[in-house]
Amino acid sequence: MPQPTAYLNGDFVDLNDAKISIVTHAFNYGTGVFEGIRGNWNEENQQLYIFKLKEHINRILNSAKIMRFEPELSNQQMCEIIIKLVEKNDYKEDIYIRPIIYKSSEIVGLRMHKLEDDFLVYIVPFGDYLDPSKGINCGTSSIRRIDDSMVPVRAKVTGIYVNNSMAKTEAFLNGYDEAIMLNMDGHVSEGTGENIAIIKNNKIISPSVSDNILEGITLETALDIAKKDLSLDIERRTIDRSELYIADEVLMTGTAAHITPVVSIDKMKIGNGKPGPISKKLQEKYFAIIKGQDNDYGEWLTKIF
Ligand code: PMP
Repeated sequence: MPQPTAYLNGDFVDLNDAKISIVTHAFNYGTGVFEGIRGNWNEENQQLYIFKLKEHINRILNSAKIMRFEPELSNQQMCEIIIKLVEKNDYKEDIYIRPIIYKSSEIVGLRMHKLEDDFLVYIVPFGDYLDPSKGINCGTSSIRRIDDSMVPVRAKVTGIYVNNSMAKTEAFLNGYDEAIMLNMDGHVSEGTGENIAIIKNNKIISPSVSDNILEGITLETALDIAKKDLSLDIERRTIDRSELYIADEVLMTGTAAHITPVVSIDKMKIGNGKPGPISKKLQEKYFAIIKGQDNDYGEWLTKIF
């Protein structure tokens, strides 16, 4: 097996040689913005499909803008680097692509201005993150989702993820698969790496974009499928914690998590405690799309081999 390749400092290099200094600003202060993008392997036609590459790069550039970063590369240039890197690594399995724009200056001091930016990318083989077939058990976290007035929540900032990691560990220590984070107002925000939606009376409801969520690409995909293919009504609005318990179905969406049904929250069963019919239909369509088995949404895919 050849050495995996990464992209760092404008070059393709062996992953083992892709190192940064301990003085790097982003390492010390969390001053990076990043993405998680999936490449999905289709064994039958021996193709890897990157899902919504442009959309992810759009989001990283928006994150960069919000953080006052000034990256030199355009969306197209970043996409080209990622496609080349995926080709070079030649994985024939599901992968996770991690681009980061980060403050690369080797400098001590708190600021965003007058620092250099670099763009790096690495790839790792990546199977299931949560269990999309059995569904997951969630607990409401005592750790609130960070507020947009503290660190911009629609920017995917590396430093923010201390908040999410602590909530995930608390959930794990309490025996849950994933945390549900409330926002500072006490309303439902999201999972630690996933958006959340409830299904009630054939309507799919997800927190509004001003409930301190990351504006998820998988959620948007799921809502598109729900509307176009399942003819469900969609609502974006603030959700109370107690609404979760009496929903017909609850699901989480994320690049890593795909569409994952939530079967219990705070030890209370959701519905009959099994993945619900609408979640299953959404999942089925979504998996067909991301694996290139559904021609309806071909424009969302970048074909590699
Ligand atoms: N919320 C948070 C905090 C996340 O990290 C992620 C993963 N990027 C999501 C939601 C889901 O976003 P997406 O579907 O774009 O991966």
